[in-house]
Amino acid sequence: MKKFIQDVDKRSNIIPHSLISTCLLHELPDAVFLIDPESSNILYANKVAYESVGLTETEVINHSVMSLQEAVINQPQWCEIAEVIRQSKEPYVFLGRHQRKDGSCFPVEVRTSNLYYEGKHFFLSVARDVTFRQVIDNEMEAHKHSLWYALNEASDGLWEWNIEQDTLYVSPKLKQMRGYGPEEDASKVDFWISGIHPDDKNRVLAVMQEHLQGRTDKFEAKYRLRNRAGHFIWVNDKGKVSKRDAKGNPTIVAGMVQNVTDQVALQERLENQAARDELTGAFNRRICHEILEQQITTSRINGESFAVVLIDIDYFKSINDQYGHQVGDDVLKAFVNKVEEHLREGDILFRWGGEEFLLLLPRLEESKQYRVADKVRKTIEDNRIVLSDKTEISLTVSVGVSTYPFHGSTRNQLIEKADIAMYRAKANGRNRVELFSE
Ligand code: GH3
Ligand code: MG
Ligand code: MG
Repeated sequence: MKKFIQDVDKRSNIIPHSLISTCLLHELPDAVFLIDPESSNILYANKVAYESVGLTETEVINHSVMSLQEAVINQPQWCEIAEVIRQSKEPYVFLGRHQRKDGSCFPVEVRTSNLYYEGKHFFLSVARDVTFRQVIDNEMEAHKHSLWYALNEASDGLWEWNIEQDTLYVSPKLKQMRGYGPEEDASKVDFWISGIHPDDKNRVLAVMQEHLQGRTDKFEAKYRLRNRAGHFIWVNDKGKVSKRDAKGNPTIVAGMVQNVTDQVALQERLENQAARDELTGAFNRRICHEILEQQITTSRINGESFAVVLIDIDYFKSINDQYGHQVGDDVLKAFVNKVEEHLREGDILFRWGGEEFLLLLPRLEESKQYRVADKVRKTIEDNRIVLSDKTEISLTVSVGVSTYPFHGSTRNQLIEKADIAMYRAKANGRNRVELFSE
């Protein structure tokens, strides 16, 4: 204790000793005990330590720490525990129950460490009331079945790895994803490890190890997993240690897996040069078809809406007429750069044809679509296109928006409705956004 006070002194001479030794320790929300390892007697206790059990300071000091515990243990048992604490380099964690003067009990988590001062050995115990934590645990327990059911339905698979028993629980859906029947045995950890693609294995196991050692908050990895047919599927795997032993070592890890093979395949196709329009570098109409199909499937599964936004440049012919076709081409390139600069993450711009573009806005509620589409329109209106020879050209666009699932459940229906809305924007004076309505 004295060493700590001296250290504080070195750093600051503003904090007086008395503040630390009386007020600070006394006012801590956790119970603090200084214990004689031989006799188990309490040599010091802060205010919470005796008030939480309804005793006075004198009723606690020089009494055995065992008298506070509900399951009163005898001296030989104390000696055994004391020996474990003495040998331990990390604080020794003990989950117990403290007994109040009136006989009632409450759960505590006690961390005890060794303290050496002027050649003497002490135990320093910090006891925390974990009643509130237990209420949450009990609630979790009560809802476990419905939670488990909901998680199973929301994911492509669940797993639970019992490290102590070296067993693995794999949900039927996860077995099915890998081509196994619900009754087939998958209780070995090897069912998982041997299925990981050789190029991903070291990385995935290292990420898991990092989490088990407590260096990361959760385990998360995207990797390839072999199915029964020998093909690899891409999965997004997320997990977390759900239980630790008294020493804090992980004993159970649980997680959920999503099959992301289609998304990864699509991503790879998007990264391919063949997905790009040669002139502007925007994604082309062919890939637009594929992505809209994929978006419809994803949104249907997740119950989300998305917007199809058709953008047509106003009076583009006059730009060609005034400056020539080459400048028209340069304007189209600059237009794409300008729009892409202002997109949200996940939005994709396609060149639909000529000077018409299709903008896909995933995961966007209907109420926010006008604002997002109008932001694109305003960006074009407010920023003149500056060409390499410094020529400045003002542009405006007419924009039509349709929404999945309200205006259609197929690609063609959605595009048709967005087109109708875009022509309304033209008819209503151009440089405006129209949402589709019947
Ligand atoms: P509005 O849409 O407002 O009705 O008028 P607009 O002048 O834009 O009319 P429209 O959409 O019918 O015409 C599009 C013009 O865009 C026709 C074509 O000459 C021009 N265009 C289409 N593709 C390209 C291209 O790749 N490069 C150039 N320079 N011009 C193109
Ligand atoms: Mg046009
Ligand atoms: Mg036009």
